[in-house]
Amino acid sequence: MKNLLVALIITILMNTGPQSAAQNRRSSRESVDLLVLGGTIVTMNNARDVIEDGGLAIRGGRIVAIGPRAQIERQYTARQRINSVGKLITPGLINGHTHIPMVLFRGLADDLDLQDWLTKYIFPAEAKNVSEDFVRAGTRLGLAEMIRGGTTTYCDMYYFEDAIAEETSRAGVRAVLGETVIDFPVADNKTNAEAMAYVEKFVSHWKGNDLIVPAIAPHAPYTVSEEHLKAARAFSDRTGAPIVTHVSETKRELDDSVKAKGASPVAYLDRIGFLNDRVIAAHVVWPQGSDISILKKRGVGVVHNPQSNMKLASGVAPVPRMMNEGLFVGLGTDGAASNNDLNMWEEMDTVAKLHKVFSGDPKVISARQAFELATIRGAQALHLDKEIGSLETGKRADLLIIERDALNQIPLYNVYSDLVYATKSFDVQSVIINGRMVMQNRRLLTLNEPQIKRDAAVFREKIIKSLGITSPKD
Ligand SMILES: [Zn+2]
Repeated sequence: MKNLLVALIITILMNTGPQSAAQNRRSSRESVDLLVLGGTIVTMNNARDVIEDGGLAIRGGRIVAIGPRAQIERQYTARQRINSVGKLITPGLINGHTHIPMVLFRGLADDLDLQDWLTKYIFPAEAKNVSEDFVRAGTRLGLAEMIRGGTTTYCDMYYFEDAIAEETSRAGVRAVLGETVIDFPVADNKTNAEAMAYVEKFVSHWKGNDLIVPAIAPHAPYTVSEEHLKAARAFSDRTGAPIVTHVSETKRELDDSVKAKGASPVAYLDRIGFLNDRVIAAHVVWPQGSDISILKKRGVGVVHNPQSNMKLASGVAPVPRMMNEGLFVGLGTDGAASNNDLNMWEEMDTVAKLHKVFSGDPKVISARQAFELATIRGAQALHLDKEIGSLETGKRADLLIIERDALNQIPLYNVYSDLVYATKSFDVQSVIINGRMVMQNRRLLTLNEPQIKRDAAVFREKIIKSLGITSPKD
């Protein structure tokens, strides 16, 4: 009797009509959240594979498969399918250094050197205007600009980072967010003790979040005492939080450091035991002697900001040498007040051209290397290369779908040349972060663009009034 029942069940299960065979095939496909099908996939994996007519399967925010479209279609099924035939599919761009709310100071004071720009304009404007509301409005504006330009991860240093984290996670964008620690009273914290208490709470609140990596951000070795730098390092050791900081940005910083501490900023930081493989150091324009090998030995990530360094005439960081020596180097815009945008396409184009003209050698920083700086190398500089920076099975699904037949792009001969020298931010058509679509066919899905514009106009009036000027410096 029992055998008969089993045989009956097997017969039912094995129903072999031609129609149900097709059904079986369909149901044997694995179900995922999202399929991106068609187009040329620029993976940025170790082999730098470029897959023509490719496909991606995404589930739970991660890439579960990548390969030829036919193979992906055969193996996977999903309710949401994106037709990307004729497009370029690349990893999302990584902006390694920002002060995101400073978009509200965009164009307030230009054409000055760093010290005048900071002390006469930016610090007073910040002292009078930075509040949690200011930070939230600026963050939403910066996020909208970054999504439109294909940035899917950014690394920030500012005040009220907890509010920045809320706005960023709500918009569905990935970020390493460093709460500033600096030895003078600032908008959110008046003392080092207050700042450290804020960081403690901030890091424990966001740790383990899918999108937000909370960090501590001692501003720079010339604005934070040795004791407070050591405390920041100890905090990072205890919590695993990354350390975001500025190092060796100007010649003056270097000279002052040599005079006061008898060492370059890098050598000084190493001497006090500050550097390790959780440190993300912006700039490093003026490394001396063995500074580059110290940074390499300690596993420090360096973020190069070519347009900001050019605009403030800070100098040219020896990036080709850093790359040759195997340093983790990424690319950033810096705050929009010194750039004046958050556009990684411009930064890629600039990094290649700046180093060619500076070295007199057109072979340094190829288009492919420039694209690496904004993707996989950028991920290394943020110590996140196991999660992001390339399109590979198991990694986070952060990717761009980019037009490839705009007038400024055609005809296409070399994909990296096309991406770095010809593609513009407005060619980014759709953006997916952690498997979620945040821009579709140029429409922002997680942010209210008209409201963002109205808020920016309101803050412009407030800022001008607070500085007692009728119009920005000309
Ligand atoms: Zn900066």
